[in-house]
This record gives sequence, C-alpha cells and structure tokens, in this order.
Amino acid sequence: MEERNRLTVGVVGTGYVGLTSAACLAHLGHRVTGVDIDAGKVAALSRGEIPIAEPGLDTLVAEGLAEGRLAFATDLAALSRADVVLLCVPTPTGQDGTSDLHAFDAAVEALARVLSPGCVVAVKSTVPVGTTTRTELALRRPTVNNPEFLREGHAAYDFLNPDRIVIGASDHAAADRVAALYEGLSAPVLRTDPASSELAKYASNAFLAVKVSYVNVLAELCERLGADIADVAKAMRLDPRIGSAFLSPGPGWGGSCLPKDTRALLRAAGEAGVDFSVLADAMAANHHQRERVVEKVRQAVTGSPDGSLEGLRLGLLGLAFKAGTDDVRESPALAVATRLAECGAVLTGYDPGLGRADRTGGVVQLVDDVTLVAKDAAGLVLLTEWPEFRDLDWAHLADLTDRATIVDTRNLLDPDELACAGFVYFGLGR
Ligand code: NAD
Repeated sequence: MEERNRLTVGVVGTGYVGLTSAACLAHLGHRVTGVDIDAGKVAALSRGEIPIAEPGLDTLVAEGLAEGRLAFATDLAALSRADVVLLCVPTPTGQDGTSDLHAFDAAVEALARVLSPGCVVAVKSTVPVGTTTRTELALRRPTVNNPEFLREGHAAYDFLNPDRIVIGASDHAAADRVAALYEGLSAPVLRTDPASSELAKYASNAFLAVKVSYVNVLAELCERLGADIADVAKAMRLDPRIGSAFLSPGPGWGGSCLPKDTRALLRAAGEAGVDFSVLADAMAANHHQRERVVEKVRQAVTGSPDGSLEGLRLGLLGLAFKAGTDDVRESPALAVATRLAECGAVLTGYDPGLGRADRTGGVVQLVDDVTLVAKDAAGLVLLTEWPEFRDLDWAHLADLTDRATIVDTRNLLDPDELACAGFVYFGLGR
C-alpha cells in the first residue's frame, strides 16, 4: 500500500471483532491503536498474548507489534489523531429484543471529547436502525455504518477475504475514507444509507437462523417419515437458489450473534408494526430443538421416553457454540447440557477449544482428556462439530463406557463406523 493511503486508525473494543479488525488493518498497512477498558486485556495484547482462540490472529498481532503498526491502550486519548475510529464494543440484546447500548453510548460519549475534528467514525458493532445517525449527531463528526460479517473461528480469514463490504453513510467523503481502509481486498463494496446498512446485518444473521431452524424441523420430519436428512439436504444444496451452507441439523443455532440479532430484529419489526412471525417461529423451533435433543438423549440412554436421567453419568463432546471457537455465549451445546443437568444427569465434558477452563458455570465438569469423558458413562452426546472427533479411537471409547450409546447431534460421525466400534448410534433425521 502506498504511504499516502495509510490511515491512522483507532479501534474501540478489542474483542472478537475489534481485535481482528485491528490486527488485520495493521496487516493491510494502516497504523492501528486498539483501545479497551479491560486493562488486563490491553496489557496481555501489548505483550502479544491473544485472549481468544482465532486461527492466525496471533501471527497478525505479533507482526503488527513487531513492525510498529499496532499498539494497544486503555485511554481513548490515544485516538486523538486518528483518521478513522471503529466502534467494536458489545451490543447485547435482552430476552425481549431490546438492545443494550450502554457500552456503545459510553464509548461514544468518551470519544466525543478526544477525536480530532476531521475524524470519521465507523460503527462496526451491530446496532439497531437509527443508531448510526444518532451517533453522528452526538459526535458531530461524520459517522458511517460498516457492519462486520466475520465468522468466529475464521475471523482473520473472513476479515481479509470478505464476501462483501457494506458502507452505510450519508456523507460521500466519509464513506470513501472507510472504503480506503479495505483497499487491496477484492470484495464487492456496497454503498448505501445507514439504515439499510444497519438492517442488512440483522437481516443476514436472522436469515441464517431461519435456515437452520428450517432444516432442524425438516430433520424431525425425516425421522417420522423414514427419510434421511443427509440426502434431503444434499438435494437442496445442489439448487443455487438455496445455497449449500447452513443446511445441517444440529442442537439449534446459538453463539454471540444469531440469537441476539434475531431477537433485536423481531423487536424492531414489532415496533414498526410489521408481523415478522416467520422469525418468531424460527426462535420457537430453536427452543423446541434443544428439548428434542434432550428427549432423544433420554430415550437413547434409558431406552424409554419416560426414563429418568437422575444420577446418570453422561459424557459431552463439545461445548463451544460451534467448532473452531472457544466461545460459549448462548451455545446450544451449553443449553442442552444445562437441561440435562436439570434432569439430574452428571456431566463430564471435553472440548478441544476450551481445555479445562470452566466457562459452563459449573454445569459440566470439563476435562482435557476425552477418555475421561467416556469412562463409565451411560452415554455420550456429541454437541459441537469439531472435525477431530471423527478420528477418535471409538472402539477404545466404547470399551470405557458403561453403556456404549452415542447421540450425535451434529451427524458428524459415520453410523456404520460407530456401530463397528461397538456403539449404539443415534443421529438426527436419519
Ligand atoms: P466482545 O465481547 O468479544 O468484545 C468487546 C470488547 O469491548 C471487550 O474487550 C470489552 O472489554 C470492550 N469494551 C466494552 N466497553 C468498552 C468501552 N466503553 N470502551 C472500550 N472497550 C470497551 O464482542 P464482539 O464479539 O467483538 O462483538 C462486538 C460487536 O460486534 C457486537 O455489536 C457484535 O454484535 C458485533 N459482531 C460480532 C461478531 C462476532 O462473531 N463476535 C460478528 C459480527 C459482529
């Protein structure tokens, strides 16, 4: 990148989105300072220690620090000379769909005092429609909505290889400045107004949620009608109008984005007087899916729909909300585990991304050796689709269990191979 195109960039919030943005923008040649209120995190990042598990991020942070293009600070004053500041703070959603903008508003209020007059602010946090325009008025500086679409577990790759870059702005020059951040990336840049940009982010996530709920209900129907969801989904995937992703059944959708963004969109629709019941139905189906998995486990390990799980030892494989991440926020695996614990089951869990760090609130005893999960278990439940689970020594694990029963909620494993290993195998929609 030519020197004249290098920007001085501030990133507020160094979580999944902020840290990834900071490291990748430094990699693209910009001078970046990431600011976070968490002093411990800032100190660790300044030493090159990465608090989240994201492939490649450690290398990018190390590169940025070594080449002097990346720094971290706790004081927003460090951003006083920034050309662009990215807001990447959390915007959680309550159960009623209300967005909690406390962290966002606090950051905006503090930024108003430090930014130079020519600075452009880009809102990367997912925010309700109207927030970017409101922020522009509060900051009295051009403010652009620039939603982030990265997937956890692929964050750095997705940032550097985006499907699209969406820039919602009322000011052309400000939009140009934000577009310049991404110079060198080959992705379509969609320029639009702030409201459309804000809505595009919610619309994308909620659509994915609907798609997963659809396939989960379809899997239940397959079981009743004697069809195989794998083949049904394969036929669907070959239709480019449908697309190939998000067509695998599982314990339900979750994570830090889909549930909160779906709730927020449903609320926004309600407030606007629009009946978006397809979203409400997808949410209800998602809740039902978790219950369905629990009932499937009950049937599998007790042999009866009314069997008691009280005191039964179950081994859980995977607790992160999906493979490739250590994030358990609104994890469907954790939701299923919590329901199983409420039914009296005693849970041991193994997740390659979590190690023994207990982020399950004590619901599951986490171990770092998969054989400890299998030992004396009345059944195993595979909840996260870590590819390495395919290569476990299943015959050995079957020997260790009390009852060699497995419920594979991701249809990850080969039923024939598991049967050969000695397991009674249950999948979804098969
Ligand atoms: P996160 O919780 O991982 O990180 C947020 C960071 O912001 C934390 O380090 C926190 O200490 C810091 N912070 C909070 N208040 C602050 C303040 N006032 N000043 C400075 N730092 C502050 O969050 P995340 O997952 O990166 O999500 C951030 C935003 O991006 C949310 O709006 C989210 O919806 C959106 N988003 C997330 C993803 C994802 O996959 N995680 C993807 C796209 C968009």
